[in-house]
Amino acid sequence: MRGFVVLSCFLVLCAAVDYEADRKLLIDVSLRRSIGYELQLTPNEIEADDIFLSLKYAELDEGFVNPKKFLVAQHFYEVRHNITESEVFKFIKKVPKGTALHAHDLFMVSGDFFFNMTYKYADNLYVLDNPPNDIRVGFFNAGEQPSSWVLISSARENSSTFDVRLRSQLTLVVWNPKLVYNDTDDVWNRFRSTFPSTIPLITYQPIFKDCFYQALKELYEDNVKYLEFRGLFPQLYDLNNTAYDKDTLMQLYIDTTQEFINDFPDFWGTRFIYGPSRNVNQSVVQQYIDDFLELQAKFPDFVVGFDLTDQEDKGRPLADFIPQLQQLQNKTNFFFHAGESDWFGEPTDENLFDAILLGTKRIGHGFALIKYTLLMEMVKEKGIAIELSPISNLIGILVNEARNHPGTYYIANNLPVVICHDDPTIWGTKGVNYDWYVAFMGMTHRDNGLGTLKQLAINSIQYSAMTDDQKSVAMNKWQADWDQFIQEVLAEDNQLVIV
Ligand SMILES: [Zn+2]
Repeated sequence: MRGFVVLSCFLVLCAAVDYEADRKLLIDVSLRRSIGYELQLTPNEIEADDIFLSLKYAELDEGFVNPKKFLVAQHFYEVRHNITESEVFKFIKKVPKGTALHAHDLFMVSGDFFFNMTYKYADNLYVLDNPPNDIRVGFFNAGEQPSSWVLISSARENSSTFDVRLRSQLTLVVWNPKLVYNDTDDVWNRFRSTFPSTIPLITYQPIFKDCFYQALKELYEDNVKYLEFRGLFPQLYDLNNTAYDKDTLMQLYIDTTQEFINDFPDFWGTRFIYGPSRNVNQSVVQQYIDDFLELQAKFPDFVVGFDLTDQEDKGRPLADFIPQLQQLQNKTNFFFHAGESDWFGEPTDENLFDAILLGTKRIGHGFALIKYTLLMEMVKEKGIAIELSPISNLIGILVNEARNHPGTYYIANNLPVVICHDDPTIWGTKGVNYDWYVAFMGMTHRDNGLGTLKQLAINSIQYSAMTDDQKSVAMNKWQADWDQFIQEVLAEDNQLVIV
């Protein structure tokens, strides 16, 4: 209504002679439609907003004069280290962000931490290093390793390039991304090519547990207090031939989360969304659903939803599984990956229709949503959050740079957006900050400031799978974090002035 009133005023003003005032009002009306722009800020928040915007303006001004210096206009791999030096990035790191709602079980921890696991657990880690073939890895008791496999420590002694080669097999990071990756298929193929190295490492139970704990720690260090993640049922293993089934896996998540909360009592918790591969037939999906219902009955507070994952363009569309998926309607939440694609009118982007018709609570990526104005209206009206994953989409070459990402439209039009980090191990990143930074510098208007950050954090709680009561407790805790954050921003600024 307020927007309508302002717009009416604008139309009246159009007939007047004060062109500059009309222009200013038109810009203002446009900006009021964006996420968080109309939030009423306290005097302290307004002061903090001035500080934040001065940092943002400095980076934008430099980039506007010299676009090669504008970090989010470059390929992420060419500038990821420069981004950590950005004052905006450092500010965003401190922002209480609420929750993280889209990550995947196997690839949640930073690439560096994951690689370092090959040192921590080197005692029983054997490898087959036969260049130019990829290095094979696996944990075995001494004497039980396949012939020709040697301890990783020996391989390291034998080859000065071993670590560089192994590390490059664990992520998509390359120094010349524009030469290596031409299109989305190249990226997905390389992603799959990491599996023979990454899976035997991450599914080794001690590493799996360490990485889950560390993933929570990395989020916590980015001021995220809660995680909802998609998971498969990976077959964990150890050196004692312990049988790890679905129940023990869920218990591992729950116990590790509790350990983390014991160490960091202001962390709120984690929830699990079952997200197996879509690249299967209907009987396998039926098995997924049976497994899911059984698991949800056993862990009703932890298992909160269902999804189908893997490359949409190459996998089966949701439309192939409607009778199966309908069995879960009213029994759980759907959080479908949908529209993670550049196509228009193909089964992939039409997943958006099925996701909405099936009653999805959030949409993973929703990149193609911009092509369907009706669906965008429905998403807004029904409060279906779009899990915006900037780094994932940029590395996946759905778009070449953030300023052209449909997220710019979603944010400018106040669609229910939450910022997500997807697979940081594979991207070679850490936590959620890079995604928040790229979204903020590449997808918001120059004048979107602290109000937008605040609303995105609030969205992350509002669109989580927590119950209403849990959300209200979380919101109160977040508000306390936020107030303290504002105090610290002002105190730090005062110190700078005094110095
Ligand atoms: Zn995903």
